[in-house]
Amino acid sequence: MPDLAERLADVDARIAAAVRASGRAPDEVTRIVVTKFHPPELVTRLHALGVRDVGENRQQELTAKRAVLEGTAPLRWHFIGQAQTNKARAVRAAADAVHSVDRARIADALHAADPEGEPLDVLLQVNLTDDPGRGGARPDDVEALGEHLLASCPSLRPRGVMAVAPLEEEPAAAFARLAAASATLRSVVPDATWISAGMTGDFVDAIAAGATHLRIGSAITGPRPDRG
Ligand SMILES: *Cc1c(COP(=O)(O)O)cnc(C)c1O
Repeated sequence: MPDLAERLADVDARIAAAVRASGRAPDEVTRIVVTKFHPPELVTRLHALGVRDVGENRQQELTAKRAVLEGTAPLRWHFIGQAQTNKARAVRAAADAVHSVDRARIADALHAADPEGEPLDVLLQVNLTDDPGRGGARPDDVEALGEHLLASCPSLRPRGVMAVAPLEEEPAAAFARLAAASATLRSVVPDATWISAGMTGDFVDAIAAGATHLRIGSAITGPRPDRG
């Protein structure tokens, strides 16, 4: 079984090839390593390998790992999980970017957590399925949510859109809808150019569809410890 350094190098080579094949520039794409469920030691090893962007999907785990690693392994922490309003203060304190803003209430809570603070980078999560139970705003609601952020949440900086491709569909088709949602958001916030998309199984398609931030876990970390 290849080790962590080999898996990271392999994924980075596949990213570089996909970026070239899409006629895009390498610096347009940021690779975030999703470290959820893995212990802080794994994050330390990733940091030593040059990783600077990591993603977590649970607030308590994010808060704990950041506290452990802040002194020795400074990183940009991306919160990619379902955001709950009662955790907004803790998320804001621990995250450098929140990818999962999908309704006005969570935007309001993140803003209220530190209204005068350093602006927090946020992405609007878009639901690319017809299932309202999945996380994300409906594509039709992206414009209004962007306007809400501008009008009511001055301490949040809308950077773009985020989505998880549905399992039951070709990723390219889903990512095309995300690109459309990105254009909708940019009609309201012209510099909200980030597109957070692409996981272990679909990052090549995501790069072809314009993704700027890849969230790659198991292809780099190996299988996650069994915790959900
Ligand atoms: C876990 C997770 C990922 C990474 O998934 P892999 O398939 O392991 O690459 C990406 N995005 C979100 C929102 C996740 O929860």
